[in-house]
Amino acid sequence: MKPEAGAPDVGAREHINAGGDKIYSMIDEIGEGDPLCTVNDDVNLDDTNFLSAVLDTIGALVLVLDIEGRIIRFNHACEDVSGYRFEELKGQFIWEALIRDEDVDEIRAYFQNILNGQYSRNYQNVLMSRSGGQRLISWTNTTLDDGSGRVVFVIATGIDITERKLTEQRLEYLAHFDSLTDLPNRTLFYDRLSHTLGQSRRYNQMFALLFIDLDGFKFVNDTLGHDMGDLLLKMAAKTLPECVRESDTVAHVGGDEFVVILPVISKARAASLVSQKIIEALAKPFYLDGHECFVGASIGISIYPTDGDDVDTLLKNSDIAMYQAKDQGRNNYQFYNSDMNTRALRRLKLENNLRKALEKNEFTLHYQPKVNLINGEFTGTEALVRWQNPHYGLVSPVEFIPLAEETGLIISIGEWVLRTACSQSVAWQKQGYGIITAVNLSARQFKSSGLIYTIESILQESGFNPEYLELELTESVVMEEAENAIKILRLIKNMGIHIAIDDFGMGYSSLSYLKRFPIDRLKIDKSFVRDITTDPDDEAIVTAIIAMAHSLKLHVTAEGVETVDQLEFLRTLNCDEAQGYLFSRPVEFESFKELLFKKH
Ligand code: C2E
Ligand code: MG
Ligand code: MG
Repeated sequence: MKPEAGAPDVGAREHINAGGDKIYSMIDEIGEGDPLCTVNDDVNLDDTNFLSAVLDTIGALVLVLDIEGRIIRFNHACEDVSGYRFEELKGQFIWEALIRDEDVDEIRAYFQNILNGQYSRNYQNVLMSRSGGQRLISWTNTTLDDGSGRVVFVIATGIDITERKLTEQRLEYLAHFDSLTDLPNRTLFYDRLSHTLGQSRRYNQMFALLFIDLDGFKFVNDTLGHDMGDLLLKMAAKTLPECVRESDTVAHVGGDEFVVILPVISKARAASLVSQKIIEALAKPFYLDGHECFVGASIGISIYPTDGDDVDTLLKNSDIAMYQAKDQGRNNYQFYNSDMNTRALRRLKLENNLRKALEKNEFTLHYQPKVNLINGEFTGTEALVRWQNPHYGLVSPVEFIPLAEETGLIISIGEWVLRTACSQSVAWQKQGYGIITAVNLSARQFKSSGLIYTIESILQESGFNPEYLELELTESVVMEEAENAIKILRLIKNMGIHIAIDDFGMGYSSLSYLKRFPIDRLKIDKSFVRDITTDPDDEAIVTAIIAMAHSLKLHVTAEGVETVDQLEFLRTLNCDEAQGYLFSRPVEFESFKELLFKKH
């Protein structure tokens, strides 16, 4: 009901002086049911029937009112939109016939302004149709006067803009809301965050930003498919607003990432309470088309003004805190602190250095022996990569392998490891020592399309006998997309290479798959071995793994054996092989060769 934006506010009278009286009589003459005139040579262009017919051919709505606001005339287009025939409304007040109750006062006031000459010609209002439907009409209003300046008629021409408006609203919605979850999108989130920041600055208030990442989303997406992944996002998007107040903003900013703005909090504790509530709500099972799924959330929190004074810093810091929460074992929240920034910076710098590490020749391999528990002989060795950086010193693979994995650098680093391990191992192979060299493969390497070709060409160029090569993969890598994993494992196996499942016990293995995987060995994770002599649970787990492995005809290697007690215990459980500091730490190539030759 407001004048259209940008419409010229004329104010002055805008009317057509066409001799009001004549028109008045003309309109009067157009009686009910007058036939449309037929155009022929004799047509009189001033004839009212002719003019009436012309009026009816106009696609726009044409409505004529007298100065009381009564409907004097309306054309076919008006009939089509309103659903009334002209005869039914003739003589009725416009606000009684076609206007919504809530708009009547405003329409009457506007009409009065028209008569006073103080009005804007362009006007939008809702027209009620006979069926109760509502159409939005954009009108252009003019007046006719009697020649002496006295208004006698008001003429309104209108266009039905309902569809255009709906399209505009839809576009407006799409620009600000995420169509999958119906939550505000990144754009609207930025708007709200800037607004909250402005308010908080002005009134000296605190507010919190929560960065939420769903923990199991990728797994659901990979195993159950994208449709189920989308469904999960929708369900999470429904759950989140239930954990916060109406005045808080929950937005979906991409992938499995959500953000919440808690404007005006009195203490940081408010943010932790909300985070806890969110974590609990998302820890409940989701039912996706009959599948019971457990996800979870990692949340990073930044607080204005302590953790940042602008939108980007607050967002970056909540993101850093979220990563910290993930590192802490998921399903928890972390407040940002400046230490995290130091760590994030280190990560960034490490990443930059890692990119150059290969060409700068900063990697080496260390070898750790594996020992047969029956005869005490070295049966194999595991190649473990080391990164010696001039600035950072020796960086642990626990730190840089995940980084390499994330950045994709693992493909070239992994290739280097395999090439080096094969060409170095040829040394003891030539001496006649039939020990197996194990090389770790990361998830991304395993899934990379060039894997088989890379292995084949490295074996060929190094002349290393594949029967002495073992590839170690963690449980989660092979269990994810297990069917596909079986195909790749078979290709590897067909080359004569051995396959071991590393860190066994840490993930969730499906026994039926384990049976179908063409594997040779399970390596019991060192966390179970550590307390094997003191913790009955660990003892039970290790006992079960060994029994199961043997029944599947697999060899078992215990990792991380540090004490004689552990060794003896493992022997009593019939474990085949052990690896650990008790025998040797991982050592450089030359030292390992010495160790090996001395031992034999
Ligand atoms: P992993 O494959 O399970 O390797 C065994 C890890 O346990 C090695 O850590 C080894 O030094 C350590 N270890 C061996 N004996 C003992 C012991 O008695 N006690 C304790 N506490 N630890 C022991 P490292 O070398 O730091 O490697 C850590 C992880 O990094 C490896 O775990 C593996 O997952 C990854 N990694 C290492 N090298 C490579 C590589 O070339 N490629 C890939 N993709 N991953 C690698
Ligand atoms: Mg390993
Ligand atoms: Mg391991």
